[in-house]
Amino acid sequence: MSCWTEELEILKKQDMFRALRTVDSSQGTKVLLAEGEVLLLCSNNYLGLASHPALIEAAAKAVRDWGAGTGGSRLISGSMTPHAQLEEKLAAFKGTEAALLFNSGYAANTGLLQGLFGPDDVIFSDALNHASIVDGCRLSKARTVIYPHGDAAALECLLSREEKDRQGRWVIVTDGVFSMDGDVAPLVDLVRLKKRYNALLMVDDAHGTGVLGEGGRGTAEHLGCLEEVDLHMGTLGKALGCFGAYVAADRVIVDTLINRSRSFIFSTSLPPSIPASAMAALDIVQSVEGESLRLALWSNRALFAERLQRGGLSTGESTTQIVPVLTGEPAPTMKLAQSLLTAGIFVQGIRPPTVPAGNCRLRATLMATHAPGDLERAADLILQAMAGVFR
Ligand SMILES: *Cc1c(COP(=O)(O)O)cnc(C)c1O
Repeated sequence: MSCWTEELEILKKQDMFRALRTVDSSQGTKVLLAEGEVLLLCSNNYLGLASHPALIEAAAKAVRDWGAGTGGSRLISGSMTPHAQLEEKLAAFKGTEAALLFNSGYAANTGLLQGLFGPDDVIFSDALNHASIVDGCRLSKARTVIYPHGDAAALECLLSREEKDRQGRWVIVTDGVFSMDGDVAPLVDLVRLKKRYNALLMVDDAHGTGVLGEGGRGTAEHLGCLEEVDLHMGTLGKALGCFGAYVAADRVIVDTLINRSRSFIFSTSLPPSIPASAMAALDIVQSVEGESLRLALWSNRALFAERLQRGGLSTGESTTQIVPVLTGEPAPTMKLAQSLLTAGIFVQGIRPPTVPAGNCRLRATLMATHAPGDLERAADLILQAMAGVFR
C-alpha cells in the first residue's frame, strides 16, 4: 500500500490531488455543499432537466410499471420496451435509420470504436477529443492519427499522406462541442474531407445535443450538416438531464455494434426509468418549452461571457455554454476555485490530464435556469478572485 500512499502525497504536493465533494441536494442552479448553499457553475445539466417534474414523473411511473432494474444485458433478457421506444425516438431525432443505447458516454465511445474498427483501419482523431474517445481508439487497435485541434487543413495533409498504402476503413472522429474549451468542431470542413477521402465521420455530441441547432439536434444541425454525419454519438446525462448514451447511425452499423461492441454486450442494460425519463427530456427539447430554454441558455451565456470579457478576461475560443477562464498552473487554479467556493460560487478548476499541462482553467458552465442576476454576481466574483491571485 505504501507506494500508493507516496504517490498520493506527491499529487497533493503538486496540487494535483482529486477528492470528491458531496452535493446534498437535487441538481438545481443552487446546490447544498458542506460549505452551505452555493451557485452551481459546473454542471452539464444545461437545460435544468435533471430536476424537471416531467422527467421525475416519467421515471417514477416507469419504476412502478417496469421495475427498478432489468436483470440482464440487452442480448440476454434485459432488452425492454422502453429501450426500444427510446432508440426509435433517438433515430428520428437525429434523422438516422437506427439508434443504440449504451450505459454511458464512456461506454459508447469505447464500445463504438472497438466494435467498428480494427488493426487494418485508421482513426483520425482531434487532439482535444474526450478521454473516452482516446480510450476507444486504444481498444480498437486501429492506427490512430491525431490531428491538431480543429485544424482541417492539417487533417487534410495527414489524410493525403496516409493515402499511399491505404487499406481498411477510415474514420474522422471529433467532439461536436469540445468539453473543456467550449469551441465547436469545423464540421463543414470535416464533411468535405470525409467525402474527398472516402472516410466516415463520427461526432461525439455530448455537449451539443439538446442545446445547439434550431431543434436542439446538436452541433451538426447548428452547422447545417446533420445528414452528413455517419456516426452520431450523444449522451443522455448532460442537457437531457438523466443518464446513459446512444449512437444513431445506419441499421448495419447498429447491428454490427450489437454483435461486436463489448461495452454493449457485456453489461446490464439501463434500468427502464432511464429511457422513460430520456423520452420525456427529448419531448421537452423538441417543444416550445425546449426552444425557450435554449433561448434562455444563450442569453445567460452572452451575459456571463461578455461580463468576464469586459473585465479583461479571455474566454478563449468558446462560443457555447462552456466558458473557460485560463489560469495556467494547478496551484493558482485550485486556490481560485477554493476562494470562489468560499464566496458561494461552485466552479471547478480543471487540471491535467483533463487538459494539457500549463492549460489549467476554471471551467464555468451555464444553465438555462440560472438567474441573470446570479450570473452577473458570479462573473464579478471571478474577476475579483482572478485579480487577487494574478495581481
Ligand atoms: C461527458 C462526455 C462523455 C462521457 O459521457 P458519460 O455519459 O458521462 O460517460 C463523452 N464524450 C464527451 C465529449 C463528454 O463530454
